Amino acid sequence: MAEATAAYDVVIIGGGPGGYNAAIRAGQLGLKVACVEMRSTLGGTCLNVGCMPSKALLHASELWNAANTEFAKIGIEVQPKLHLDQMHKAKDDSVTALTKGIEFLFKKNKADWIKGKGKIVGKGKVEVTAVDGSVQTLDAKNIVIATGSEPTPLPGVAFEDGKVIDSTGALSLPAVPKKLIVVGAGIIGLELGSVWRRLGAEVTVVEFLDRITPGMDTEVATAFQRTLTKQGMSFKLGAKVTGAKSGKDGVELTVEPSAGGPAETIKGDVVLVAIGRRPYTNGLGLESVGVTPDKRGFIDHDHFKVADGVWVIGDVTHGPMLAHKAEEDAVAVIDTIAGKYGHVDYALVPSVVYTFPEVAWIGQTEDQLKAAGVQYKKGKFPFTANSRAKINHETDGFVKVLADAATDKVLGVHIMGPQAGEMIHEAAITMSFGGASEDIARTCHAHPTRSEAVRQAAMDVEGWMMQA
Ligand SMILES: Cc1cc2nc3c(=O)[nH]c(=O)nc-3n(C[C@H](O)[C@H](O)[C@H](O)COP(=O)(O)OP(=O)(O)OC[C@H]3O[C@@H](n4cnc5c(N)ncnc54)[C@H](O)[C@@H]3O)c2cc1C
Repeated sequence: MAEATAAYDVVIIGGGPGGYNAAIRAGQLGLKVACVEMRSTLGGTCLNVGCMPSKALLHASELWNAANTEFAKIGIEVQPKLHLDQMHKAKDDSVTALTKGIEFLFKKNKADWIKGKGKIVGKGKVEVTAVDGSVQTLDAKNIVIATGSEPTPLPGVAFEDGKVIDSTGALSLPAVPKKLIVVGAGIIGLELGSVWRRLGAEVTVVEFLDRITPGMDTEVATAFQRTLTKQGMSFKLGAKVTGAKSGKDGVELTVEPSAGGPAETIKGDVVLVAIGRRPYTNGLGLESVGVTPDKRGFIDHDHFKVADGVWVIGDVTHGPMLAHKAEEDAVAVIDTIAGKYGHVDYALVPSVVYTFPEVAWIGQTEDQLKAAGVQYKKGKFPFTANSRAKINHETDGFVKVLADAATDKVLGVHIMGPQAGEMIHEAAITMSFGGASEDIARTCHAHPTRSEAVRQAAMDVEGWMMQA
């Protein structure tokens, strides 16, 4: 039975980076807003089982690795001992603090959190079913779909608690597996594979393609794979997993060459399936507003608009499946609803892999420029020649700046090195202002910083790099 009815300017379904930022923005603009979230906490995939817990484990395992392998080199003797329970607790405590922070921001911006599963039941109507089974219907002038995504399962490989797991399972393994097989050499697989490798697991990454990290510039991906291999990760590329058999002593995977050929089996204690994520629209009632997702499950839109009074943002629609892209969508959709100018430049969404070293990029890869026949100039600077990197004994990697051959406009920047994820933003700002490589090259950079490598790479575009 439907209980109360409330009237809202905007009802958002989903409380992840898309949904919660949309709710906060709507509150800031004085719109009456509710956000329907079925999890027991706000923050969506990112805060609960994605970006944040994975970064907590990456940070902790990086320190563990440094304590074991780097400290002695600089004269610090320690005898580190791993307490995995405490590592998980520290991660969980951080996640709780972050999700509570979103609750606080909702209150501050007068956004209502309606707890339960939301279903669109017609134009301007969202039915919410709470965990206790009670149902209420919300009246909404605008409905924003921000229901996110879920891990894509692998045909023939059923998930099994503790043995065949997805990224969520890999964030809370109770013990370090002896042998971990990661299926998929994308960002999530390599980040979580790195965590367990550092903590002691033997890690094999099986990838269908003949390269790792599709979407990353090939030159960078090749260097990145070399680095991960040096760290002890092994790769089986051009290999297709077709089946899994789990028994008492682990899981046996059947693997065939992607190009065809005889199958082989490989064994691990734990298999992490990380082949990507797919949009989540289960039980959302899209049919009630005449919306059908595309073949891959994504909801199409025209400037976020899906149907009269229905909008979509974040992972459930097209574009990179990244928290900051969902956040950009969120502000743009609410600004549009409020009659302001909402815009996202999808060509300038940075990507970061938070391994050690990090890899970050923005704009176009060399592969894309070549395929499009764009005439470009390239500047490159290795961290082996950067004084800060040398002093810190962290010289793996380089910066590459790609600029238009005729106009010098920066077209792409690619960085592999510690803190690349922080350094990429000077490229983001330059590119969002339509800047040239010379703009970076003639900007004074503090010494000694890793960012000087970005400047040197920009100088190299015109051949006047000074420090290598
Ligand atoms: C392990 C991992 C690491 C990641 N690391 C990064 C990273 O470092 N950087 C980065 O940018 N991205 C990262 N991501 C991706 C990032 O988490 C997503 O891109 C981001 O969360 C998408 O935001 P969203 O709001 O679109 O969807 P989500 O965060 O998925 O949120 C959707 C929310 O909607 C709720 N929901 C769904 N249907 C309903 C319904 N019918 N009623 C009520 N609630 C509903 C869900 O419970 C969920 O909480 C990572 C993902 C994973 C899995």
